[in-house]
This record gives sequence, structure tokens and C-alpha cells, in this order.
Amino acid sequence: MKLDVNVLRYLSKDDFRVLTAVEMGMRNHEIVPSELIARIASLKHGGSYKVLKNLLKHKLVHHDASKYDGFRLTYLGYDFLAIKTMVNRGVFNGVGRQLGTGKESDIFEVVKEDGTVLAMKLHRLGRVSFRAVKAKRDYLRHRSSYNWLYLSRLAALKEFAFMKALEEHGFPVPNAVDCNRHCVIMSLVPGYPLVQVKELQNPDVVFETIIGAVVRLAEHGLIHCDFNEFNIMIDDDEKVTMIDFPQMVSVSHPNAQMYFDRDVECIYKFFEKRFNMLFEENENDSDGSEAEMDEVGRPQFSEINKNSGFLDKELAASGFTRKDQNELEKLTEAELDMYSDSDDERTSDEEDEDMNETNIKQLESLQLEKEDNNHQVADEHDDNHQVGDEHDP
Ligand code: ADP
Ligand code: MG
Repeated sequence: MKLDVNVLRYLSKDDFRVLTAVEMGMRNHEIVPSELIARIASLKHGGSYKVLKNLLKHKLVHHDASKYDGFRLTYLGYDFLAIKTMVNRGVFNGVGRQLGTGKESDIFEVVKEDGTVLAMKLHRLGRVSFRAVKAKRDYLRHRSSYNWLYLSRLAALKEFAFMKALEEHGFPVPNAVDCNRHCVIMSLVPGYPLVQVKELQNPDVVFETIIGAVVRLAEHGLIHCDFNEFNIMIDDDEKVTMIDFPQMVSVSHPNAQMYFDRDVECIYKFFEKRFNMLFEENENDSDGSEAEMDEVGRPQFSEINKNSGFLDKELAASGFTRKDQNELEKLTEAELDMYSDSDDERTSDEEDEDMNETNIKQLESLQLEKEDNNHQVADEHDDNHQVGDEHDP
């Protein structure tokens, strides 16, 4: 996704005021009626119509007149709201090159005033699963705008909270700097994803470090759930950093064993293939037959001390509640199932229904504050992270 932040420079206070008004309207409107936007933004002399035209030109909003005249935010519009907030907070003041496009995110370099480079992850949850769900369910077609906003924000909040907690417990993760809406700012990890690394001086040491981290995670009550060569970074000194946490689950999750084994298996397979490592302990088993190896030497989930208190206590304290976790677990589970090629049938229609009904109900319960309040909030649009954060579900 292209992110031309130069546009930021041409956007006025009024532009952001109206963009914020669209965001607020989207709490209970898939397409926000133009009049409502005008009322929330309350610019003098009906100025919001002109502003909307400008926002449309820059693709920050999408116009829809199929039922009534209205607008919704685009990804880009949401990006700009988060970026503006971060810049106002002094977190960074420039956006650089794109570092990666994940299945559910876009990642950019951002630069602080003193020249320090950080990484900005813009979450795009819902991009994959809701496309699939939408194809099946008509009534969801018009809900997608709520869902991606809400899900992406929840994913960012979770990733930020987990990264912070893991860092505090000495795990090799990026430094979590800040979070707003669907955007997480973290330290830039030197090096490359493991998938790009063709040679290692000490593959054994790197392997032990990685498996050690998976085991220690489980001892702390957590499973990564997407632990593979794309989410492990290696620098020139072969130092390991884990990234990408929105899909993590607790060891008390009903499918914990399966997720844990899958994470472990991914690492074993990759090191076997890429670095020709052999894992069997049986000396007679020199042909490397997989059936033997699976029984030998793999960390066993059932033997790992379950101590999930860490997850609940610390993550709740960091703003990511148990309820948020349950909600996101339900949602990401469906997503995880879609990625695992062998398990296409696992997400039943019924589960899909549940997942989205819960989500929609929650979203529908979010009400716009009274008019007065809106005026007040819109007036504070310069500090617009409050607008997004104030009425969290
Ligand atoms: P996704 O959830 O979309 O897979 P990731 O967090 O895995 O997103 O990031 C995608 C890619 O972006 C990574 O494979 C990596 O190349 C790059 N990346 C992510 N975070 C950082 C970071 N903090 N520093 C440097 N590169 C990063
Ligand atoms: Mg990833």
C-alpha cells in the first residue's frame, strides 16, 4: 500500500477535524451521512462539504451515495489519523521506506527528530478473513468497514501490550514505543527475517535460542501461534528477535497443544531444510526418517510448567484486558485456520456466524456521545488520539 505522507503537509486543521468526524460517525454508521459529519465537525458556514471533497481527492475517505449521501474512512484515512496523532505526540516526525507487507499489516520506517529510525506497523486485520466471510454472507457485506477498524485497532493494542510485557520479561522482542488506533511504533530490528538467511555461522546456537524462546514463552503462559522463519529476525551477530504478536494465545486455550506443536514443528522443519540439521537422537536412524524424529527431542507441551498468571495480570494492567483477549482469540482463531492449508474445514459456518455476531453486537453497542460531547471532542481534534481511545469497547 502506498503511503504518501507528503499529503499530510497539505492537510489543514479543518481537514483533520472532518476526518475525525468521519471516524466518529463510523462507530454506528457503515457509511456516515454527510449531514452527520457536518454536525460532528461543526465547521462554520457548512465548510465540511468542501473539506470532504478535498479528503476524497486524497483518497482518505470513500464516497457512497447508493442509499444516501455519505462517506467512510479508507485505510489511508485511518493511517493518517494515527500518524497525525503520533506526530503530535512527538513519537516521530517523518515516514520513510516500506519495510514489509505482511498478510495483515504494512510496515514502514519512521524517523524521529534526532534521526533515530523506528518501525511503524499498521495493522490491517480483517483484510483476509472478512473477504472470505463476506463472500458467504450478504448481511456482512455492509459491515466490513466497522470490522476492519475495530479489529485492526484491537490487534494493534494486543501486539503493543504483549510486546511490552515480553520485553519486560527479557524476551528478545522489539522495544514497544507507542500505540494509537491500528498503529504500533517499535524499535527497528536490525538484520533480516530468518527466511532470507541462507547461511549461519552457528545454526545450532540460533536453533537452541529459538526453541528455548518458544519453551520459555509457554512457561510464561503464552504461545506465539505464528512462530516461523518470517517472524524471527536475525542480525549480523546472529542475534535473534521475535516479532509479530497479534495472534498469541494463552496456554489455557483449548487448542494450545496444537498451536504449540505447530510452532515447534515449523522451526524444526525449517532448520532441517535450510541448514541440514538432523534432530534424531537414535544413532541407527541415520536416514532421518520423520516418524522417528517426531518422538525424539521435541519439547513436549504437556511437560512444560503452566503458569498463565503472567498473561492475565500483566496484560490486563497494560490496558489489554482478558475480555479483549477472548474476543481477539476467537477472531484470530478463525484467521489462523484460514492460513493453515490442511485444515480448511475446521472453521464451521456456525463458528463464523458466532464470531461475527459477537463482534457486530459489540460494535453496535458503541453509541455516539451526545452532540455536546461531540463538539467538545472535535474541538480537541489536535490531540485526536483521545477521540479514538475515549470510548473503547
Ligand atoms: P505481519 O503480521 O503482517 O506478518 P510482521 O510483524 O511479521 O507483520 O512484519 C512483516 C515484516 O516486516 C517482517 O517479516 C519484517 O521483515 C518486517 N518488520 C516487522 N517489524 C519490524 C521491525 N520492528 N524492524 C524491522 N523490520 C520489521
Ligand atoms: Mg509476520
